[in-house]
Amino acid sequence: MAFDSLTEKLQNVFKNLRSKGSLTESDVKAALKEVKMALLEADVNFKVVKNFIKTVQERAIGQDVMNSLTPGQMVIKIVNDELVNLMGDETTEISLKPGSEITVILMCGLQGAGKTTTTAKLAGKFKQKGKKPLLVACDIYRPAAIEQLQVNGEKQGVPVFSMGSGHKPLNIAKAAIEHAEKNGFNIVILDTAGRLHIDEDMMTELVEIKENIDVHQSILVVDAMTGQDAVNVAEMFNNKIGIDGVILTKLDGDTRGGAALSIRAVTGRPILYVGMGEKLSDLEQFHPDRMASRILG
Ligand code: GDP
Repeated sequence: MAFDSLTEKLQNVFKNLRSKGSLTESDVKAALKEVKMALLEADVNFKVVKNFIKTVQERAIGQDVMNSLTPGQMVIKIVNDELVNLMGDETTEISLKPGSEITVILMCGLQGAGKTTTTAKLAGKFKQKGKKPLLVACDIYRPAAIEQLQVNGEKQGVPVFSMGSGHKPLNIAKAAIEHAEKNGFNIVILDTAGRLHIDEDMMTELVEIKENIDVHQSILVVDAMTGQDAVNVAEMFNNKIGIDGVILTKLDGDTRGGAALSIRAVTGRPILYVGMGEKLSDLEQFHPDRMASRILG
């Protein structure tokens, strides 16, 4: 399970805190040092950890905490609050255009991150909400990717617009939007090509789409299992093309948690959903407060 090791370590620190009737400043500092180690071991970004501990410490070493009846409990609550803060405080919904206007969503990410699967998962969510999504196969480099989107679209009961591999992604996207206008679709989701590593061609292609089409939301799909790399990828995509939010996949795996805890703080962009498995129903909305509770165990 994700976060197991982090949860276990934090619970040990908290058990010690709770067992003490009163707390001295050095008790708090010692406990926070352990929290710091646990977060670093969970692969949370170093700067994020540093700021986090500083904030918690400033709040925890105060008269009202030290003099309270349950100081340990108060410190634990501060850690919880700040974890929620770190992940963005509130749940972020994907922004949609008002009324019958078509919302274009650009899905991007590195190959293998789970982009195509997630794109189909997301289309299913929109369909459940009564929207009419259209999936668009813009990955012209891997015929298997087009086929995969078609298979997944069919499973979700969501049509897939494809022009094969002989057209530029921008032109496919334009044609898809026209198709959506004519056929009453109100959400157009572009599944773009992923590469094994970030490269200029990939970015140029995405920038070209964004410059020529009214993309309302750009969503990056990253693999939680890759830890800090996921955070670096998010930062790079955000700098190059600008992203509105992130979907973190494979949180059902044995991930240490670093990506979930760092992405918002590093990029300023929220996590929107998390992938919890390979099935097309395994996509959950991301709630910072619930995630913090899960991490704290
Ligand atoms: P893409 O190259 O980014 O389009 O990646 P795919 O959508 O093809 O996914 C790559 C692999 O990751 C596939 O085997 C997916 O089933 C798997 N995958 C995607 N999302 C998740 C997830 O949330 N959990 C798990 N366990 N596997 C996932």
